[in-house]
Amino acid sequence: MYKSIAFACAAALCLAGCAAQMPKTPPPAAAAPQLAADDSLYATLWQQGALEHDLVYSEVYRDAQSKLLRALHDPHWDALPKSERAAVRHGSLRGLKPAVVLDIDETVLDNSPQQARLIKSGKPEFDNDAFNAWIREADAKPLPGALEFTRYAAAHGVRVIFISNRPRDLTDATIENLKRDGFPITSEGDVLNLGTPTPGCEAKGSNKGCRRELVARQYRVLMEFGDQLGDFLDVADNTPQGRRAAIEPYRDWIGERWFALPNPVYGAWLNALDDGAKTPHDKRAAEHAALVTQ
Ligand SMILES: [Mg+2]
Repeated sequence: MYKSIAFACAAALCLAGCAAQMPKTPPPAAAAPQLAADDSLYATLWQQGALEHDLVYSEVYRDAQSKLLRALHDPHWDALPKSERAAVRHGSLRGLKPAVVLDIDETVLDNSPQQARLIKSGKPEFDNDAFNAWIREADAKPLPGALEFTRYAAAHGVRVIFISNRPRDLTDATIENLKRDGFPITSEGDVLNLGTPTPGCEAKGSNKGCRRELVARQYRVLMEFGDQLGDFLDVADNTPQGRRAAIEPYRDWIGERWFALPNPVYGAWLNALDDGAKTPHDKRAAEHAALVTQ
């Protein structure tokens, strides 16, 4: 009896010891987290993480600021496209007050956090509702140099007017955001969002020409700022060729009256390359086809 108990104990100890020494079967490897591919990843990282991005904005606004007083004191200086100026007061600048006209998104406000949210959510396509919710947060931060330039302009008696394709019903949230950041907003009329009535001028789609003309009835526009060609003039033919042809008469105005800022994430430049593509796959195929290899 004693022997059998002793044997049983020894066997149990042996089993326990042997089990401790036996190589364990490794647990199945944890699956690597799946990261959704997103065509805007590098572009968004450049906006948020590249110091070079900030330097470009700073140098554009500082350059404009260094030229503003010359434009202000030249009574013939006007940055409105010639056809738009001709349509207002027969092109006369007499008696007009000075103003500068700026786009908002990716010109004075940085929306890259909203794009970053899209990327992290795994939904690569632009989401209008999500973007409008972002506007309502009214917390987009100013891009480098924009505050300094607009405050400088306002301090010299130049009205600062924003023309944006944000929806008109989000004008209050837009003004709240701009004011929170410290931009010199003096009245609700300083922000002309998409849908602003333009009596006497029939706006086509999201074109800004009629809203520029609205401004031009009261103001001599010293400078325009934007991240899209459409922030400077209406582009009738949004193809690569049509875009080049539209800007050609105004080449000398770039860096003098018109100041262009970079937007690698979205814009008419991209639509010009993949226009007509319905699916992400077709868009990507069109964009690959647009690559230049020599
Ligand atoms: Mg913009």
